[in-house]
Amino acid sequence: MALALNEYGRPVIILREQESKSRLRGLDAHKSNIAAGVAVSRILRTSLGPKGTDKMLQSPDADITISTFFTDLSLSNDGATILEQMDVDNQIGKLMVELSRSQDYEIGDGTTGVVVMAGALLEQAERLLERGIHPIRVAEGFEISSRIAVDHLEQISHKFEFNATNIEPLVQTCMTTLSSKIVNRCKRSLAEIAVKGVMAVADLERKDVNLDLIKVEGKVGGKLEDTELIYGIIVDKDMSHPQMPKQIEDAKIAILTCPFEPQSLRPSIRLTLIPLRSSKLYVSKRRSTSTRWFKDARGCLVGFPLSPVWINLSDVGATLVICQWGFDDEANHLLMHRNLPAVRWVGGVELELIAIATGGRIVPRFQELTPEKLGKAGLVREKAFGTTKDRMLYIEHCANSRAVTVFIRGGNKMMIEETKRSIHDALCVARNLIRNNSIVYGGGAAEISCSIAVEAAADKYPGVEQYAIRAFADALDSVPMALAENSGLQPIETLSAVKAQQIKENNPCCGIDCNDAGTNDMREQNVFETLIGKQQQILLATQVVKMILKIDDVISPSDY
Ligand code: ADP
Repeated sequence: MALALNEYGRPVIILREQESKSRLRGLDAHKSNIAAGVAVSRILRTSLGPKGTDKMLQSPDADITISTFFTDLSLSNDGATILEQMDVDNQIGKLMVELSRSQDYEIGDGTTGVVVMAGALLEQAERLLERGIHPIRVAEGFEISSRIAVDHLEQISHKFEFNATNIEPLVQTCMTTLSSKIVNRCKRSLAEIAVKGVMAVADLERKDVNLDLIKVEGKVGGKLEDTELIYGIIVDKDMSHPQMPKQIEDAKIAILTCPFEPQSLRPSIRLTLIPLRSSKLYVSKRRSTSTRWFKDARGCLVGFPLSPVWINLSDVGATLVICQWGFDDEANHLLMHRNLPAVRWVGGVELELIAIATGGRIVPRFQELTPEKLGKAGLVREKAFGTTKDRMLYIEHCANSRAVTVFIRGGNKMMIEETKRSIHDALCVARNLIRNNSIVYGGGAAEISCSIAVEAAADKYPGVEQYAIRAFADALDSVPMALAENSGLQPIETLSAVKAQQIKENNPCCGIDCNDAGTNDMREQNVFETLIGKQQQILLATQVVKMILKIDDVISPSDY
């Protein structure tokens, strides 16, 4: 800072740019970064596991989200909602958000666990730095340990056998994922829905699952138990006339983007009313013309000379019309009379989806309609919900696509959103198992087993890394400790008892009995996690901690 005088002799204070910034170096920089990371991880720690607490988040516009795990609303999946809604300013905090998001992107589950693990590693790192160990040595030690842990996970993993007819193992694994969510009271049915959905779109030979083919939709109302899997797509629309058929089998669907204007439907001449007795004669006389006849309420036949639209629609064999545009009451009435069910005001995106799923083509002009352009679906039905006027159109067993829809029902929007996120997790777990059917045991069992293996390996390293490797083993214990703590158990006592049991029985399946099921053998409790998910957690957490440890200079604006 310097004091100077301007041309009028007035004093001016000159601030040099550097002076408006604060700077932390060396251990102080490390400590400040670690403190930021640990603070974020502590918030999530209490949410881990089946007994984890929920968080209520209020956004500035007063929208409320309750979540047991971290989700990113904009991505609609696990990872960062809570962190994002907390509006994490700190750059290290943002790294933790990214960490959780990466886990979500790669695996889809374990987003809380990965942040808890990273927080524990940071806490351990701080202790080592205080003891004078260089951060790079700590990072190297963590890297070695993570490789040991990942290899050990491979060794204790089991192959989970399942096939298209025996999906029970997959259901069990999805149930583990769902058991720690708010929706856990319906975990069996939701897990079955998720697995059946994944199996419907999976290519078991190539071990590939395209999750884009699974749409997750929700509608407020009904119970969570009413959530269903639809082998097709649903559209939030109904038939344009209440008297139109509610169910059409083997539907041939005309998908139109041309306006259904009354002129195109209206008869070009006035209606001809003929008493019924003479109708036979009349009809036979006029059969050659394109007039269609209907009996009206008085028993008279009403003749409609057909416009090209009608001829086209019926000639090509359409049994359902889906139109991007609306049509007035008159057109609607005519469609109903023609026994041609129709749906109007269908959005462009939905129209495209219907076209893709049913193998139809979107037709911009009536004249262009041909039988090959019709979409085909085994069943189209309209379903009404409760006493409300809410109706939806189910287009099932579509010709061209294996696309399925998970249709979630729930008491309020918050519940539906949470269920969507939970279903996403379950879908990802099932997909991961199809890609790689190795599993490890949950409830902290895998972490305890890795901790024992890493601890044992530490002795083989004569250098300073040994300390970092031991610290890594301690950090691994933090996951079962958090699970125990969140379940109201004594964390240290429970952990040491389980660890002793694992060593004594040489059984890597012993974990924390969070639900007080009477056994801590996770195999008996059916608490599994995918091997790749667990490995990814350890690798990602180590990676981010190494990244944080490499920062030794923090320059920030002074108001931070
Ligand atoms: P994440 O977002 O990381 O998946 P969760 O809150 O879903 O976090 O908790 C997952 C942890 O809870 C895993 O370590 C899993 O093994 C454990 N877990 C899930 N169900 C049970 C159970 N019934 N008993 C013990 N641990 C469980």
